[in-house]
Amino acid sequence: MTSFERRRLDMVERQLVARGVRDERVLDAMSRVPRECFVCANLAGSAYIDAPLPIDDGQTISQPYIVALMIEALALTPDDRVLEVGTGSGYAAAVLGEIAGSVFTVERHAHLAAQASDCLARLGYGHVRVRHGDGTRGWPEHAPFDAILVSAGGPHVPPALLDQLAIGGRLVIPIDTPPSGQDLRLIRRTGEQEYDGRSLGPVRFVPLVERRAPE
Ligand code: SAH
Repeated sequence: MTSFERRRLDMVERQLVARGVRDERVLDAMSRVPRECFVCANLAGSAYIDAPLPIDDGQTISQPYIVALMIEALALTPDDRVLEVGTGSGYAAAVLGEIAGSVFTVERHAHLAAQASDCLARLGYGHVRVRHGDGTRGWPEHAPFDAILVSAGGPHVPPALLDQLAIGGRLVIPIDTPPSGQDLRLIRRTGEQEYDGRSLGPVRFVPLVERRAPE
């Protein structure tokens, strides 16, 4: 076992299992994805610390526990088709890709999208597709999605994402709670026009940047 593998398994026990993450699919996935490959070389030694880490373009790769909490809430099965908004480093997309058969992820920074795409391909996540663009519009060509993970926080749930959620589908998103902070919400589509939601607790994510529709 390499020292990274040892640190990864230690992270799963001390940061995830100890805090109540129980979904075996999530625990197995996070025991496999090499987080050290998704951060820049000088941070590889810190890849498994219990904190978010900086990536390029002023963004962050979320704390491992938050990734686990969000993905556990999505209750994924291998047949699910998943959308992620906010690819960042590609780490959460890789975790999703360990569990679900098809993953579509959108990133607004071209450089991050290209870097994540290369990294995911190199690690063998060919079924995880990365697109550069505004993820608040979803990825209509591949909708509906059984699960949607929004990895950045905004004032409201973008309507396109609610539309592109399958009936029975789950969406996890941080929603701003003025004057500061965010609340992580789990929303389930229960019918054509019906959704229900609950809070998963306070979080702090980088902003979800939503472009206004052209006038
Ligand atoms: N899931 C990532 C964490 C990403 S941080 C990981 O595992 O590394 C959130 C990301 O959302 C940032 O890279 C940011 O550029 C991106 N983002 C913010 N608003 C966006 C939008 N409207 N569409 C696509 N990506 C967006």
